[in-house]
Amino acid sequence: MARMYYDSDANLDLLNGKTVAIVGYGSQGHAHALNLKDSGVNVIVGLYEGSRSIAKAEAEGLTVKPVADAAKLADWIMILLPDEVQKRVYAEDIAPNLEAGNVLSFAHGFNINFGQIVPPAEVDVVMVAPKGPGHLVRRTYTEGQGVPCLFAVYQDATGQARDLAMAYAKGIGGTRGGILETTFREETETDLFGEQVVLCGGLSELIKSGFETLVNAGYQPELAYFECLHEVKLIVDLVVEGGLAKMRDSISNTAEYGDYTRGPRIITDETRAEMTKILKEIQTGQFAREFVLENQSGNAGFTAMRRREAEHPIEEVGKDLRAMFSWLKKV
Ligand code: NAD
Ligand code: MG
Repeated sequence: MARMYYDSDANLDLLNGKTVAIVGYGSQGHAHALNLKDSGVNVIVGLYEGSRSIAKAEAEGLTVKPVADAAKLADWIMILLPDEVQKRVYAEDIAPNLEAGNVLSFAHGFNINFGQIVPPAEVDVVMVAPKGPGHLVRRTYTEGQGVPCLFAVYQDATGQARDLAMAYAKGIGGTRGGILETTFREETETDLFGEQVVLCGGLSELIKSGFETLVNAGYQPELAYFECLHEVKLIVDLVVEGGLAKMRDSISNTAEYGDYTRGPRIITDETRAEMTKILKEIQTGQFAREFVLENQSGNAGFTAMRRREAEHPIEEVGKDLRAMFSWLKKV
């Protein structure tokens, strides 16, 4: 079993006297900044001039500076910008302001692993990646708990990089939930694989395909929505709580029998072979190149896919049904 580290394994004092710049104030950024501040760490937020997040961060009691100024002031720079924006902001505003002994950190390994950002040798490069969205990182912290994190060292210039990464993880509440050591490569490849094959890509297609099959066979879209989308959460909650076994304990024997006998016909050898192919595309950098080029060319394909997906009938039905749920809730 891989070892999990908890509060008593990490020393928050290592951040004493250090200024941490959180660059970006989105999902992860606001959570890291506020949690670190509440943990007694000296935090500043780096944002581009004109960012709508400036007012928000200031209202939440944080000091905000332009990214370059924040990077200059800080001993530790945590980049929490969208992955596709990081290379440019790093080159323009962060790299010129890095000093020997600074820590450069990330919540996802994409830009380091695929060589989009190449930091100088004299800075520590670490990752602290919460395994949950930012709002959960913040909420659990305020409740005295924490979202488990991965941590990794890519470059150890000070000889303290690993302890520093663990200290940061403690500052955002990660060691309350437990932190697990990894490498930039492992985190990047498994994260991309998970989101493409299971969590986002796989699940979206499974939901849509089930919905389309029922609707095309003449069933009411509202029923198809409930069966193929709405109930996913109920099942997933059970799986997360107690594994597949707990879910299978809670469903009817009819459902359980259908699970064992029909599930393997949905995920077939062909699907598994495709999973391996997708993993290869991640490992070889083919996916990263495609994503980087898509961004460089102005996201023509990305924009078209977003629009097409937003127009899918399941989204129309869902909008109406969810509006009814909230009406029911208010009554
Ligand atoms: P986000 O899109 O929620 O927020 C990014 C923020 O960056 C924006 O709110 C804005 O303040 C700023 N920003 C956007 N465009 C900018 C630009 N052009 N120049 C300067 N600033 C700009 O991003 P996020 O989801 O918090 O992701 C940040 C990092 O955390 C990524 O590396 C991501 O992979 C990683 N991560 C995200 C999650 C998650 O659940 N969201 C989980 C783990 C790790
Ligand atoms: Mg992820």
